[in-house]
Amino acid sequence: MTDKKPFETARETLKQLTLRKLAPTPANYQRIYSEIAGIPIEPAFPADRLRDIALALPTKTPGQQKQRGLLESAISQLNWDGVKNSLMAYGGFSPAASPPISAPGIELVDMPAKPAPAENIVAMPVITAPALTIEFFGQIARMIEHTLPALGQDDERFLEQTHILLKALRLPNADAFAVKQMLANYGHRLSFAAEDQAEIKNMLLRLLHLIIENISHLSLDDTWLKGQVDALLAVCVPPLTLRRLDDVEQRLKDVIFKQTEVKQRAVQAQEEMRLMLGTFVERLAAMSESTSVFHGQMEENAKLIEQAKSITEIAPVLKNVMGATRAIAHDSQSARDELQGMRKKVEETEAELAKLHRELDRVSAQARHDSLTGALNRQGLDEAINREVSNVKRKDTPLCVALLDIDNFKKLNDTLGHATGDVALAHLAAVAREVMRPQDTLARYGGEEFVILLPDTPLEKGIEAMTRLQRELSKRFFLAGTEKVLITFSAGVAQLSTNESGQEAIRRADQAMYLAKRAGKNRVCGA
Ligand code: GH3
Ligand code: MG
Ligand code: MG
Repeated sequence: MTDKKPFETARETLKQLTLRKLAPTPANYQRIYSEIAGIPIEPAFPADRLRDIALALPTKTPGQQKQRGLLESAISQLNWDGVKNSLMAYGGFSPAASPPISAPGIELVDMPAKPAPAENIVAMPVITAPALTIEFFGQIARMIEHTLPALGQDDERFLEQTHILLKALRLPNADAFAVKQMLANYGHRLSFAAEDQAEIKNMLLRLLHLIIENISHLSLDDTWLKGQVDALLAVCVPPLTLRRLDDVEQRLKDVIFKQTEVKQRAVQAQEEMRLMLGTFVERLAAMSESTSVFHGQMEENAKLIEQAKSITEIAPVLKNVMGATRAIAHDSQSARDELQGMRKKVEETEAELAKLHRELDRVSAQARHDSLTGALNRQGLDEAINREVSNVKRKDTPLCVALLDIDNFKKLNDTLGHATGDVALAHLAAVAREVMRPQDTLARYGGEEFVILLPDTPLEKGIEAMTRLQRELSKRFFLAGTEKVLITFSAGVAQLSTNESGQEAIRRADQAMYLAKRAGKNRVCGA
């Protein structure tokens, strides 16, 4: 930098232009002036050339028109930063120093709200999204709409923000920068909403456990209910799937129905017993009272007899004794009658309870679960298979139906007894439940026949799954007394074909199972 005064520098510049024989253009003047003043030589602002460029830019969309206007204004202000920002915005890029663009109802979370410098007014552009981005925004909007049902309807503010965002995403000239900011903010709130939903799910599961445990405490005396409650507790564990929840719902309905019936009858029976016991105690007290009165009278009479000196003195005493004895005999007789009546009533109540048990057994047979194995019964299977078949149609996924039949079960029953046969059935069901996936469904099809529904499973995988179950079963024996009992089964697997009914697929699986038996048992055949 020189210490010359500006007018001296100007005079020296003119002198140098003459000395160097340079044309007196503004550019030459500026160059020599800068040289003498010792300041960096700034190239001239090419306003004309830039204006030409601005005019050449197409203005097909409102966004492009706006950016070109901003560019022209920056050129006339000789503002390089303005030119840069408007050109970037025109090309769809966000200028680094632009302040965030807020939308109603959306708070910005990750951008500092710095005020824009005066010359940076052009740094608040509307970056109109190109066609591909608009399509992409449309997809995001659909995705958000699909996630909405999973997030519940309780958070009104979140719902309002969702709708604002959906609207912004679907604008034909969506502002890409604003949408980006809204999405960042929405993602933040979404993570909270999703966490809330997960927590709600866990809480509900814990509640369900509490309720089920409570039911089991109330009905420890009923084995059917206890079996159902155990099965419910086993089902109520994460991961919660719709199938599991459905199973829980069906079982709970059965349990509640039976629970109510048992409870009502039990309360009634209890009340009857309480009344009878009350009468009995009263009767007993009255009897002991009359006996002690009788004893007192007898002692009195004995004394009178001892002291009697003649038969005439004894005669009235004897009359007393006779009277008292008759009274006690009468009391005893009526007590006996009453007790007999009570015994009859107890017998009637007992018979009624037995009838109730038989009725409950009939009801459990009508319920969807088999009482011995806890697996679905035929009715439960019918409902489950219809559900799975409609799932296949909706989602276009493969479904396998497996039918298995225990090998030589009759022989097992004959040699080890029917009770051991029952244990074998329950054992097979327990192993199957453990080995199969949570989404698979086990049903007792008949005596020693089971059906397993394997959703999202093609034939090969279905055969593999059944072979894996066979392997597991051969590893796990159960004890009949001291004897180790091993069971095997033969199975047929069919994959549901297009337009086939569930029952038809079971029939094909049954045929394949028959082939497995014919081929030597303990094997799996595909249909
Ligand atoms: P295969 O290998 O050909 O299947 O011969 P199997 O003996 O297993 O077949 P079969 O159909 O001849 O016998 C089935 C037996 O299952 C007859 C029946 O008494 C018995 N069974 C059916 N339901 C029950 C039950 O609930 N408990 C018990 N313990 N046995 C049952
Ligand atoms: Mg059979
Ligand atoms: Mg069999």
